[in-house]
Amino acid sequence: MDRLPPDFPIFPALAPGEVWLVGAGPGDPRLLTLMAVHALRSAETIVHDALIDRRVLSLASNDAILHAAGKRGGKPSPHQADINERVIGLAREGKRVVRLKGGDPFVFGRGGEEARSLARAGIPFRVVPGLTSGLSAAAMVGIPATTRETNHAVVLATGHRAVDAGSIRDWEAIARTRQPVILYMAMAHLAEITRAFLNAGMDPDTPVTIIASATLPEERVLETRIATASTDAKANGIGPPAIVVVGSIAALGPELRANFVGAS
Ligand code: SAH
Repeated sequence: MDRLPPDFPIFPALAPGEVWLVGAGPGDPRLLTLMAVHALRSAETIVHDALIDRRVLSLASNDAILHAAGKRGGKPSPHQADINERVIGLAREGKRVVRLKGGDPFVFGRGGEEARSLARAGIPFRVVPGLTSGLSAAAMVGIPATTRETNHAVVLATGHRAVDAGSIRDWEAIARTRQPVILYMAMAHLAEITRAFLNAGMDPDTPVTIIASATLPEERVLETRIATASTDAKANGIGPPAIVVVGSIAALGPELRANFVGAS
């Protein structure tokens, strides 16, 4: 890293045979952590998710080998066990491996499972946290995760497994907390989730902001309400990857954005 103060902590070397599980943040390469940039520059081999922006990958060293191993909603994708095996295999070959995942590796990205498989295989590894898309997508459209006036808790939830009876009951329980909910992977089941929220007594006018492709050039933001969120998203062609912010905080965006100094 260039021109850092002399007392700045040193960046550890990525040693042969090690795996670093690195969070790439929501997409905009300027939102990478310094450790993530260091890791990308150090890696001989990078196994990355499908959603990783090419401008993030362009920070890799010229001779690094990139493997796409992404899970991508709705499309055929490698099995998690195959990804784990591949990463472990590369480490056992003595490569300096970065496993690059979107957002934060330990938030809904199966990073926890990958870390466990590395631990069980006896592979030395490190975790480099990243900005999770739920909080950073919201922040970048002027939605604070908490304010003292609106909420004392915020729920991060995945909409991926949303349709069985048990999940519906969970959604209703979440709605009854009356705290804002930030949904990941929710677009496929948005109709069911919003219906469960309404069934649990959520006000139909509860504000909802959907942020698709957050922090990327193709970002789209839709402001709506819980009663119509699913149909409005469809009508406006808003699809994954998207973050859905439900609740009081979603209404704060327009006022804060009014004085933002540009979108990027
Ligand atoms: N570990 C990641 C989440 C992985 S799950 C993190 O911490 O952000 C994948 C889901 O993340 C997507 O379905 C979407 O809901 C969300 N997501 C990731 N990047 C996004 C982006 N740039 N814009 C909107 N949503 C995003």
